[in-house]
Amino acid sequence: MDMRRFERQLTLSGFGLPGQERLCEATVLVAGVGGVGGAVATYLAAAGVGRLVLVHPGALETPDLNRQTLMRPDRVGEPRVACAADTLREHYPDVTVEAWDRDLFDPLLPGLVAGADVVVDARHNFPERFRINRMCLDLGVPLVFAAMNTTEAQLLTVLPGDPCLRCVFADGDPEWDPLGFPVLGAVAGTVGCLAAMEVIKIVSRFGEPSTGKLLAFDLWDMDFRSFPVTHDPQCVDCGPIRRQPSRPQPYTVRRVPLPDVPDVPDVPDVPDVPEASAGMPGLADTAGAAGAAGVGGLAAAGAGPGVRCGHDDPL
Ligand SMILES: [Zn+2]
Repeated sequence: MDMRRFERQLTLSGFGLPGQERLCEATVLVAGVGGVGGAVATYLAAAGVGRLVLVHPGALETPDLNRQTLMRPDRVGEPRVACAADTLREHYPDVTVEAWDRDLFDPLLPGLVAGADVVVDARHNFPERFRINRMCLDLGVPLVFAAMNTTEAQLLTVLPGDPCLRCVFADGDPEWDPLGFPVLGAVAGTVGCLAAMEVIKIVSRFGEPSTGKLLAFDLWDMDFRSFPVTHDPQCVDCGPIRRQPSRPQPYTVRRVPLPDVPDVPDVPDVPDVPEASAGMPGLADTAGAAGAAGVGGLAAAGAGPGVRCGHDDPL
């Protein structure tokens, strides 16, 4: 790769050339290249991830163009994943991009996941999300979930040993409408960028991945919250009946010391600000209970139907 592209990030304290080299040598599988996954893939390619494996079934339709920024109107009717790959290759010629016009139940998927250093789930339906959750658990591959619906979005990072997606959403969302839910591209792009940042941190060892919590936010009023997640002892994917990973590689996060900060003069105390009462629809009523019980408790507390999750883009 032409390292001049990365001059502005090579100067990040704690990142540097070692972090960049880790990115350049990494393979990341991005499941879904719609509004969320397209943003993930874009920023991973821009950061210099060496190899991207894109998986997404189906053809591009005109209504996809309000959010899927890797797509082009002259490619309507063609496979979306091919259009996404071509756009990335044009902008980032040093990045190797593979495109698979498949869903996550395709028999090829376990092999693709096994070859990845990190997987991003940006699919819009729980059957596929649970499928890749289980694959990554079995193979010991770190997984970042990114999902959105209307103005809400969620982010969950699962490193080997962490509570998994099934621990948080045991049954998915029974009220989920796979087709026609409202989508704003800026919401999809926001959570996609956050997911890309998680991958960059995991791969480069710069910063600290957001593990052990579910980040949920609503861009309607810019309400950002995080909820602790806990192992569900009844989880069918990582509970007592879980299978042993076939690639047992203990993952460790190396915390990078923050750079020295110059002394700053004391500032006067700031009066307490009353806590905002407005919250994310569906989360506001259960935020306290979820915070106390962990997000395993969030689902159990009946917040599931309100906490719409798993939505990226209609087919
Ligand atoms: Zn689990």
